[in-house]
Amino acid sequence: MEIILATENRHKYEEISRILDKHKILLPSDLGLEYSFEENGKTYFDNAFGKALTLHKMTGKPVIADDSGLSVIALEGAPGLYSARYGSKEAGRMLSDKEKCQLILEQMSNITDREAFFVCNIVYMTSPYRFFCFQETVQGKINHKPVGENGFGYDPIFFIDEYEKTVAELEPNFKDKISHRGKACRQLKEVLQNEKVNKLRSEGSFPEEF
Ligand code: IMP
Repeated sequence: MEIILATENRHKYEEISRILDKHKILLPSDLGLEYSFEENGKTYFDNAFGKALTLHKMTGKPVIADDSGLSVIALEGAPGLYSARYGSKEAGRMLSDKEKCQLILEQMSNITDREAFFVCNIVYMTSPYRFFCFQETVQGKINHKPVGENGFGYDPIFFIDEYEKTVAELEPNFKDKISHRGKACRQLKEVLQNEKVNKLRSEGSFPEEF
């Protein structure tokens, strides 16, 4: 199935394409579209729904949107919904992933409670009146320094006790197995499988051995 992803974030695209490997995931730029969305929602769902609706209105096609972020307990849930643009107001420009990790490490320098979690909200929309939403989390701790080269965003400072590694030290396929995005996308995968079966049934071409 062909689905358009409401982002130009290559990292999200790679992760979602890996997990939904039976489907052709396209970016708006693949269709020559200039897509952008101002994130002003109060929840991850608000933003993911807004992204999906905007792109669906532009294309009339099935779309997926991802809104995600990192919440640090000792920072009262920050950066949270502002994960992508964290620190940009003070700096007067968007910070790089490296700078955002550094900013969190500075803010956490004297803090012993290092609990944190990632959130991912995925909306799959086939019409403004028909959509599915999945939201998942993964728990971890803020490491004392960035470690690892894989992944993106806050992965180098997000440490998972069980694996004794930061997410940036995990192999990409392993990140998919345990991550907030991986968990949400696997639920979507099941819905897409059902969509396919229903389509085959309605066309009368549902194979016996399915
Ligand atoms: P948004 O969903 O476009 O608002 O951006 C989410 C931001 O949260 C990203 O730019 C990253 O900084 C961060 N983020 C989301 N998911 C991950 C992840 O899997 N690893 C590391 N950082 C993430």
